[in-house]
Amino acid sequence: MIRLLLVLLLIMPQAYAANYEAAQGDVLRILSPIQGNHLTVRAFDKAWPIFEKNGQKVAWIAVHLKTKPSAYDIQWSSGGAAFVSQSTDTVQITQGNFRISRITVEKKMSSFDEAALKRIRADSAAIKKAYKTTVSIQNTWPEMIIPTEGIVSTPFAAQRYVNGNARSPHSGLDIAAPTGTPVKAPLAGEVVLVADMFLNGILVVIGHGNGINTIYAHLNKALVKQGDILKQGDVFAEVGTTGRSTGPHLHWGVQFNGHKISPLRMLKQQGNP
Ligand SMILES: [Zn+2]
Repeated sequence: MIRLLLVLLLIMPQAYAANYEAAQGDVLRILSPIQGNHLTVRAFDKAWPIFEKNGQKVAWIAVHLKTKPSAYDIQWSSGGAAFVSQSTDTVQITQGNFRISRITVEKKMSSFDEAALKRIRADSAAIKKAYKTTVSIQNTWPEMIIPTEGIVSTPFAAQRYVNGNARSPHSGLDIAAPTGTPVKAPLAGEVVLVADMFLNGILVVIGHGNGINTIYAHLNKALVKQGDILKQGDVFAEVGTTGRSTGPHLHWGVQFNGHKISPLRMLKQQGNP
């Protein structure tokens, strides 16, 4: 009897709602439990893109670094007005396992004058706007390649306490590499911002479609301008140490539907569709 039940479960997996687990900053790639046209998926009060791979429909859902650990619904729906099919999966979000470090600095070093603060605020607004800029480019499967070879010097979401005060978690991934090392587009995209900023130095933001935008900071040089179209792998900048930086490295950040995620979760991963 148990054996029969197991066989039934194995041949009818699509009839059951699935439970997933993911950490803050992860990207879920999950198979659709339902068939039909006009397939949509919603989670965290947002619609997420569905891509096709090997004839299967796969939703990509980004878990914001700041999503509270808890259980959340993933709602699938398909069909038109005549026939609607629905299914709800659940995902348990767990706390991310992020690096914590504590440093002490002299007060002077950790504060900026009024002019600097004004620039920092304007830069920050420009970055926010660039992250929200949509482009018409589409990637059929948004699996990224690493933009530059090097050593991870500061991981995603690393949390620093300066003189006991928590700073914002590191919004990207730092890859240490020599000045001049080429930076490649991890996916096809359109350049939405090229700027020189107080903290971030020379910076490029690329839109990749479906709400996926990436940022590159502390560049030695940007080789593109706003509106340029890039193919996956195109070299568009050089690693550098411009802005507030202690050595040559690439700061690489990814936002997906406004969710800050670990860039590494967009790379090819074992066990993922
Ligand atoms: Zn960084």
